[in-house]
Amino acid sequence: MTTTTSNRYALAIDIGGTKVEAAVVDPNGVVLATSRFRAPTGRTSSSEQLAENVRRVVRQSSATLPDGAELLGAGIGSAGPISVSRGEVSPLNLPAWRGYGVRALVEEELPGLSVALRGDGNCIALAEHWIGAARGVKYFMGMVVSTGVGGGLILDDRLIDGPTGNGGHFGHIEVGGEDTACGCGGTGCVEAVASGPKTVEWAQAHGWTGTTGEELAADYAAGNQVAVSAVRRSARAVGHGIASATALVDLELVAIGGGFSHVAADYIDLVADAITERAPFPFITKVRVVASALSSDGPLIGAAALVHHPERLSEVARA
Ligand SMILES: [Zn+2]
Repeated sequence: MTTTTSNRYALAIDIGGTKVEAAVVDPNGVVLATSRFRAPTGRTSSSEQLAENVRRVVRQSSATLPDGAELLGAGIGSAGPISVSRGEVSPLNLPAWRGYGVRALVEEELPGLSVALRGDGNCIALAEHWIGAARGVKYFMGMVVSTGVGGGLILDDRLIDGPTGNGGHFGHIEVGGEDTACGCGGTGCVEAVASGPKTVEWAQAHGWTGTTGEELAADYAAGNQVAVSAVRRSARAVGHGIASATALVDLELVAIGGGFSHVAADYIDLVADAITERAPFPFITKVRVVASALSSDGPLIGAAALVHHPERLSEVARA
């Protein structure tokens, strides 16, 4: 049977703190709706339960491949930290997996196919660069502000994730003047200041009586003073982090996604204001900040980009 580029597909796998999802993705970055399968992960799962759920969604999804189609390979985007060279993951929110060889697990399910692994923040940056807000942009950072804060760097059209695969981890650069404890063991990280749960915590410590990000969003819209201060503090931390990242690598564009980036209609504007406030250099203030152009399919699309666009990966970490 002959195949053309148009019927070569990628199997994309997204491993997160609450679920693992798999889907077939076409060469244009379209996720085939009937190929999507998910299973739970979670803090209390055993290593074997996690492995079985990954195997299950891989089998279910790959079984939906259209007639006459060819599977080019599989891409895994995982919560980190990860080791690209060893094919291992140690997701902070999946304690049963520390140095777990997930690439070998997927290779066993898909004999003869190559399987690539990258961090989920880097996969989102790849997706944005492939079919999202950063198409045609050479110096770009993709970001997620959600339960955590993650990111990925594309420099000169290549994903720069370094020899371990954890580069571009925007959430753990430091924000000046902040000392909030971070899940990584450090203090004052962007994630420790700006994430949804940490922003809610800060508001509560300052007398706000709500409990969720949704309530914080409603109170921000209503002009509640503490809610406004909390949301501005989050956006300021993200903006100051972007200013520092731009000083280092001369970014042209940053795209921000993730649930908490929708906490305020003007969240992206607040981030942009914070960049100007932080940094007077024109080469820093020129960085544009936009909302992500990806749907919730972003992580799967990015995992598929590992298969469909390997030329966008850096040579050093290509494995
Ligand atoms: Zn940290």
